[in-house]
Amino acid sequence: MISKDDLYVILEINRTASVTEIKRAFRKLARRYHPDINPGDRQAEERFKRITEAYEILSDPLKREFYDVNGFYTEGVLETNRRETTWGFSFEGFGFSPASDSNFGDLFGHAGRSQRRDPQRGQDVEYPISITFGESITGRKARINIVRMDACGTCNGTGQHPGSRESACDGCSGIGKTMRTKGHLQFAVTCGDCGGTGRSIIPCGNCRGDGRASRSEILDVDLPPGVATGSRIRISGKGDNGRFGGPAGDLYVVVRVGEHPFFKRIGDNIHCSIPLTVTEAALGTKIEIPTIDGPAVVRIPPGTQSGQVLRMRGRGAPSLLNPGLRGDQYAEVRVVVPRVADERSKQILRELAKLNSEDPRSKLW
Ligand SMILES: [Zn+2]
Ligand SMILES: [Zn+2]
Repeated sequence: MISKDDLYVILEINRTASVTEIKRAFRKLARRYHPDINPGDRQAEERFKRITEAYEILSDPLKREFYDVNGFYTEGVLETNRRETTWGFSFEGFGFSPASDSNFGDLFGHAGRSQRRDPQRGQDVEYPISITFGESITGRKARINIVRMDACGTCNGTGQHPGSRESACDGCSGIGKTMRTKGHLQFAVTCGDCGGTGRSIIPCGNCRGDGRASRSEILDVDLPPGVATGSRIRISGKGDNGRFGGPAGDLYVVVRVGEHPFFKRIGDNIHCSIPLTVTEAALGTKIEIPTIDGPAVVRIPPGTQSGQVLRMRGRGAPSLLNPGLRGDQYAEVRVVVPRVADERSKQILRELAKLNSEDPRSKLW
């Protein structure tokens, strides 16, 4: 539905433009913005879509009339309003010609086909997968069983009952629309026999004419080292099949990584917490800290405080964006105070206090 943007502005024509002028404007713009001419250009693609939509409405006398009166047009509104005739206008004996229907057959020189059987790209498909923390670091291969829309095996993707021939629809003589008359009003409505395609086929019994059927498929997927929760691994062409010869969508394997009891990953860095005794923290020492590569020896400097963070360069997770690079590991120190029960230990601590009379709260005042 288009309502916010002026269709005449989109087609760069004025409101009194004739059918011929509309068609000429559309051809000119469509040639400039057609996706075949601007591969990969999102803006051109969007523009082309809007041009096409504007043309579809303005090139149809009934739709154009409705748009001029109401400032918008939405598919099906003519059929709805047909009964009420609230937007009074009478239209008699206008010529409805299939040649003015918007398709690009004549534009690009291939045979005209009705819009609705033009190739459509298939939907993207998502497949969630859960892996362990360790697997996210090393990467792993996964065998997955996906369900996607594939070409129907019964009709080979044509949507037609095997052996049957496609012919012009009897209900509309191949135009896709039929005229309805009520009083003085005449309306073009979508042909009910063919749904507007203008074609008459005997649909395939397996896919009911869609040309596709859901099928499960086993795939081997490579999850690279460094995948994290939310990583999306794209497997091109393994989404749903397209319709009417359109390309298939893509498959996205969406990763979820399980928690690790010791490591916590933030970005490509790995965080952990290391307990130290009071003696180790005060005197300094060398200890072993777990890393994803195994234990690493780290020097604890004398006078290390609880909450201090040790940075271990290059011990983090492999980077997905920059293969070969790794994040860092951050180990936060947590000093564990001994629970002394025996008299001898208490005495030593009191002596320690006497020798070190420093007041840790002196700076609070
Ligand atoms: Zn079929
Ligand atoms: Zn028909």
